[in-house]
Amino acid sequence: MEKMQFKAESKRLLEMMINSIYSQKEIFLRELISNASDAIDKIYYKALTDDSLSFDQNHYYIKVSADKENRTLTISDTGIGMTKEELENNLGIIAKSGSLAFKSENELKDGHDIIGQFGVGFYSAFMVADAITVTTKTIGSEEAYRWLSGGAEGYTIELCEKEEVGTEIILSIKENTEDDSFDEYLEEYRLKAIIKKYSDFIRYPIKMDVTER
Ligand code: ADP
Ligand code: MG
Repeated sequence: MEKMQFKAESKRLLEMMINSIYSQKEIFLRELISNASDAIDKIYYKALTDDSLSFDQNHYYIKVSADKENRTLTISDTGIGMTKEELENNLGIIAKSGSLAFKSENELKDGHDIIGQFGVGFYSAFMVADAITVTTKTIGSEEAYRWLSGGAEGYTIELCEKEEVGTEIILSIKENTEDDSFDEYLEEYRLKAIIKKYSDFIRYPIKMDVTER
């Protein structure tokens, strides 16, 4: 198992995001669903040009499942998955897009809308989760990898088992605090409303599965 540190800028942005009283925490779900959809697009386009792959429409979907007892929210997809290198490169660096530079310029003007506008992406999940596990297997690989992070201190990557190609992201949803509620991200009606609000245009089916306590 390797223990890695986030790049300095990533660390700053991550801390900023986690600590900010960001008014639209719910957008984390839009970000994760859009990544899942992108990953399915990638396998779809690969199948168009590679005769050895078939694209069976029914096999491609995104699934959102909440487990209230264990306080986990899982977003899984049957997309292209990630290699170990991709896990490191894609999830180890944030704000490649320059949203951090933008943020410091506009900090006082419009700080609260930056994440929503620019789609900081994957890391927005740390607004609602105190730990994230990403299990992924890429197409054509026998090996699967698990990326684990408890936030700004870094992440680990280990070899693991995963039957199907694709990615599964498990969020350990934060406990409620005096000022903030996180329980809502385990509620079916709330998740449905967020999906409807931001992800209505997604081309692949979004399945849902909620286990009551
Ligand atoms: P962006 O989507 O703008 O590139 P993100 O932070 O949302 O930024 O995601 C970073 C990268 O991580 C993606 O570009 C993609 O390569 C990879 N990634 C994230 N989620 C998934 C997923 N579910 N399946 C495959 N790759 C993913
Ligand atoms: Mg994204």
